[in-house]
Amino acid sequence: WLIQTANTHNCACYLVGGCVRDWLLERPVGDIDVVVEGDAIALAKVWAAVWPDQLHTHPPFGTATLSWQDSSLDLISARSEYYPQPAALPVVSFANLAADLARRDFTINCLALRLINQPTELIDPQHGYADLQHGLIRVLHDLSFINDPTRILRAIRFAARLNFELEPQTAILLQHALPWLDQTTPARLWNELGLLLTEPSALVALSLADSWGVLNQLFGSGGWSASLNQQAQTLLANQSDQQLAIVWLLLMSQLAPSAAQTQTQRFSLPKPIRLMVEQWPQLVAFEATLSQTTLSAGQLDRLLSPFEPLLLEVWASNQATSIQHQIKYYLQYLRPIASILTGRDLQAQGIPAGPNYKTLLAEARERQLDQFEQANPNLC
Ligand code: ATP
Repeated sequence: WLIQTANTHNCACYLVGGCVRDWLLERPVGDIDVVVEGDAIALAKVWAAVWPDQLHTHPPFGTATLSWQDSSLDLISARSEYYPQPAALPVVSFANLAADLARRDFTINCLALRLINQPTELIDPQHGYADLQHGLIRVLHDLSFINDPTRILRAIRFAARLNFELEPQTAILLQHALPWLDQTTPARLWNELGLLLTEPSALVALSLADSWGVLNQLFGSGGWSASLNQQAQTLLANQSDQQLAIVWLLLMSQLAPSAAQTQTQRFSLPKPIRLMVEQWPQLVAFEATLSQTTLSAGQLDRLLSPFEPLLLEVWASNQATSIQHQIKYYLQYLRPIASILTGRDLQAQGIPAGPNYKTLLAEARERQLDQFEQANPNLC
């Protein structure tokens, strides 16, 4: 039906980009991009009449999105792009398929298939199919990374995900373009960095980003060592749903605290992650206390209760066994214990409400946990 309406409206439609790449690689196809030569909006309106809930049009951009279940189909008017300055947003104008393919990032992403009611040939102006077969990421021209430095992050993401290599000249161009990352807005960088850090292949991507000097360029120092990678693997084995927080905290642990906070704000990470980055130095300051002193359960609870459990786990993953042991004991047994005494109890006892409540409740909890420990000596 989709193809028929396109033909009736005299629109040439093409499957383009990632969906063709993934289909040729026999990988699961995610979102589908359809490029239209012709009046994409008129076509979108026909579709909108049939799927009023699922189809959203964006007339100024000549695009429409059809969503269903976990997938979506983007209908895009063929366009060409011109970069007035390196790292700036491109100036866009409507064009034909050839120009649309010429604006793309890598040869493996500028493959197209015409949508017609019969078998169709692969449109492959940049020999992307050969690069797919050889496992190569290749830019279309020498200025590609400089025009759009976010392509550096895309190159890493695809190399890690597909286990591809950079074609040698592309590798050289990527190195030359690294300084242009500094000229790219944090929002645009994050569009790609966020995807990179949340992909299943994020750890491979981070190792590549480190060895290609990209982490150093983005964060000024730090990196992704084999031991960080090991820590991340262990943490993610139990908490894969916390991938972004875990890899970000580990990355930031390599920077000075003020730099870690600056980077976290610069990329507007979600508030819970920002708070953990802010808390990190306070936790580091307790390292000596935790390693040198034998703390009672109550003292341990008082020391660690202000910190997020995930932060404690990530920090502990690189600590001495004795500290790891204490953190595990605290998280597993002490933190879940509810305090017996509450503010209401103090009120009921006729104690006037005030700042002393906090102290009284903390002291009561400390006593309660010490008693728990005496009753359960085998747990610690
Ligand atoms: P994924 O499987 O991660 O969705 P994708 O290849 O579909 O990968 P998208 O980010 O959805 O990538 O982009 C769709 C297509 O748009 C890409 O295949 C590529 O051709 C083109 N594209 C996206 N970003 C850029 C860019 N920064 N520069 C040039 N072309 C791009």
